[in-house]
Amino acid sequence: MATPQTSSTAQTAAQSLKEMGNERYQSKEYQQALNIYSRIIYDYGANTDVPRHLLAVVRSNRAACYLKLRSFLEAFQDCAQVLEHAELRPERDHALFLKMVHRAARSKYGVSDLEAADRYWEQYRALGETDPIGETPVPAEPKLKQKQPSAPPPPSSPALRSINYRIQVFTDEAAKLPDKGQFVYNEQMPADMFGTNRTPGKAETLFLDSLVRKHDAEVRGKRRWRCWNCNKKATSMTHTPATYMGENPPLILDYCLPVCQVRRRCDKEARKMITHDLSMAQSLTPRRR
Ligand SMILES: [Zn+2]
Repeated sequence: MATPQTSSTAQTAAQSLKEMGNERYQSKEYQQALNIYSRIIYDYGANTDVPRHLLAVVRSNRAACYLKLRSFLEAFQDCAQVLEHAELRPERDHALFLKMVHRAARSKYGVSDLEAADRYWEQYRALGETDPIGETPVPAEPKLKQKQPSAPPPPSSPALRSINYRIQVFTDEAAKLPDKGQFVYNEQMPADMFGTNRTPGKAETLFLDSLVRKHDAEVRGKRRWRCWNCNKKATSMTHTPATYMGENPPLILDYCLPVCQVRRRCDKEARKMITHDLSMAQSLTPRRR
């Protein structure tokens, strides 16, 4: 190509850097992948020869790296940048748009901004319902709507308190499901539990364990989950319920990751990741193991 070289050269360079970044990401070298994506954004972000869509995908990929590295604020910034400025087109960019909304929700969960996270999940569900290209034919489950926090059943005894127990399976696979991997149960707990003390005592720990045991089989049986980390067939779930007693009704949010083998690498990685997420959050009560 002799003549107008600049446009194709810049685009080709950015494109091949992106492939390199993707390879690093596939090899789980997230920091290296992130560096490459950052370089593309730095070098070509203002270059009008590079398609905006390509840069949006790079940002989306970088957000995925940030999520892997638990840098939630940075992840969210990339998501917001793409959602607000990339001029996404509904038909062409639907998959990218969904991904960004999903990653934005995860970023907000990561910093414990539940309200914002929920808004993104709502948006995600709404997008599924009106999906213009039919990639995700997902009518929202009416069952879930009935179980929204606004309408819990009244406590059956004054010593009990209504709570919502919400399991969120936290994988991209789950995000593609009609229910988005979210399971909501109305439960009750002794009213004096999780009082002023944010650290769970023995009673609290037992209560959380019983909640997990009660619903684990249903969630596991819902489909053939793949391990969040290695994509092998999952044989169990790593649960990490956290309490949000300030919500009305109180909420127990259980981040849940399908794992291939209990107590092996993927299980340990899952616990490490979730514990890290929780330790960043101020209002959370991580479950002691
Ligand atoms: Zn695994």
